Amino acid sequence: MSKTETDIIVEDKDAALHALRHSLAHIMAAAVRLLRPEAKLAFGPPVEHGFYYDFDFGDNPIGEADLEQVEQTMRAIIKAREPFTREEKNCDEALRYLEAQGEVYKREYAQELIEQGKAVNGTLSFYTSGDFTDMCEGPHLEHTGHVPKNCFKLDRISGSYWRGDEKRPMLTRIYGLAFASGAELKEYLAMRKRAMERDHRKLGEELDLFIQDSEVGVGLPLWMPNGTVLRDELEKWARETEFLAGYQRVTTPSVTRKQLYERSGHVPYYQDSMYPSMPIDEHDEYYLRPMCCPHHHKIYASRLRSYRDLPLRLCEYGDVFRYEKHGSLSGLLRVRAMCMNDAHIYCAPDQVESEFRGVVAMYQMYYGHLRMGNFRVRLSLHDTDNAKFVDRYDDWERSESIVRGVLDGLGIEYEEESGEAAFYGPKVDIQVKNLMGREETVSTCQLDFMMPDRFDLTYVDADGERKRPYILHRAPLSTHERMISFLIELYGGAFPTWMAPVQVRLVPVNAAILEYANETAAMLRNNFFRVEIDDSSESFNKKIRNAVTRKIPNIWILGEKEKDAAAVAWRRYAVKEQQSMPRNAALALLQQMREKRTMDNFSDVALPTP
Ligand SMILES: [Zn+2]
Ligand SMILES: [Zn+2]
Repeated sequence: MSKTETDIIVEDKDAALHALRHSLAHIMAAAVRLLRPEAKLAFGPPVEHGFYYDFDFGDNPIGEADLEQVEQTMRAIIKAREPFTREEKNCDEALRYLEAQGEVYKREYAQELIEQGKAVNGTLSFYTSGDFTDMCEGPHLEHTGHVPKNCFKLDRISGSYWRGDEKRPMLTRIYGLAFASGAELKEYLAMRKRAMERDHRKLGEELDLFIQDSEVGVGLPLWMPNGTVLRDELEKWARETEFLAGYQRVTTPSVTRKQLYERSGHVPYYQDSMYPSMPIDEHDEYYLRPMCCPHHHKIYASRLRSYRDLPLRLCEYGDVFRYEKHGSLSGLLRVRAMCMNDAHIYCAPDQVESEFRGVVAMYQMYYGHLRMGNFRVRLSLHDTDNAKFVDRYDDWERSESIVRGVLDGLGIEYEEESGEAAFYGPKVDIQVKNLMGREETVSTCQLDFMMPDRFDLTYVDADGERKRPYILHRAPLSTHERMISFLIELYGGAFPTWMAPVQVRLVPVNAAILEYANETAAMLRNNFFRVEIDDSSESFNKKIRNAVTRKIPNIWILGEKEKDAAAVAWRRYAVKEQQSMPRNAALALLQQMREKRTMDNFSDVALPTP
């Protein structure tokens, strides 16, 4: 395979960035050594967004407050344009040198490299710049003066065990950010600031959406009333959408016997992601379910199905439980209990394509409406070398070509990836980038040719023969946990009126208006709107600011004039102008926004007119 010119340029750019970050790790270590001559060096690699170096400071540690000084010293080293020179030492010489320098960590590592036969030609390489020498493979910049202006910044300090082993000494890790140019660093810092402001964990706390409690357990969020509104609204939307698309709702339990998962293949293929089983009734074992599929298959199998019953679309917002490693848990994004917008479509082979189309159209409708534009479609295929993918070559080929055909037919752009399929069939993954540019699978749609066999699912065809249906697994709105974590960050916590936990806040300008405010609140509540009155003693401006801080989409200001005219002065989130209108007209407008699920949290969306 020949490389294109762009490949080479990208590779060169990455190599240059790698060398820059690597060189900066040396420069930082050199600077730290000038300030703490006794510090011992451990590892100091380039990493995503920058570099770090681990030091053992003994009883003279360095703190965040010292970073400014380290940075200044680094700048002086850069200014001195010190060349990086390479020297090879034979193994004995290298060990003796590190020993003499008191570099216990480097020496241990050198010993290991030698034992593993990784000393090239029986030598280890060292690089020196100025007075600082480090054992390392390179590559580096030609000299320190090649570091672009303002391209780096020391970021933070954390503890880290030598070789990641908690039985070994605790070291101090200093992180630096570094990019190819000052402009890129600036851009990254701005992006990070924005992402931190919009972090769903931070906003989840500030807006009372969800909490975590150590006595409940990690990865098990508790949804507050405000967060539960978000779930309910998504669920209501899904129920209506699925009803119109011919789905039927079912309800199934969250625990189940081991036998069910032996049949489905979750034991053994999926066991690592499941909670351990619970012994029950002496000889029985039960699992918390990791997915709803097997329960739905049982509902399908409970009746004799005819071709006239197909497609049969069973849906459920189902609670599922997955064992995620402690270290990978994060806010709502990675949790151990979640509620999924699940459904299974059982259909005849000649219906697969149109059903798949229907599902993809539903995805497009949801994502378009929610303005989740920043996604990529991945077609996840099997991989013949992996035992996880049961070797039914023809079935894999056939089902993969069906899915590919649907995506092509709809003109959807996608990328293929081998080895990412479910163990029972190919899938389409919707990959969404978060604010930091990290990609996550937000939801999937899978074509399954395996479970109908395992569960012996059949239907009687027009010719009287029993045949196997196909199954589509789909969850366009993902789990509440994952979808809401994305939406919080996408909207910065400012939800459209139809979803917002508090849809209208009433701000009476003085106590004399309170009765009119109460009457207005009752009117809204009787029409099923979530409304609050701010009857606090704060100043008017403070009340407006408070409503904005809570990201409430609509503020109705009520004064003498409004009371006399049975009107409201409507002020929208992040909009300074206010509009006066009769109260009934305002109510009608809110009702339209709710009915149309208007995305009024985006300024370019046309609001309904009264
Ligand atoms: Zn190096
Ligand atoms: Zn499923």
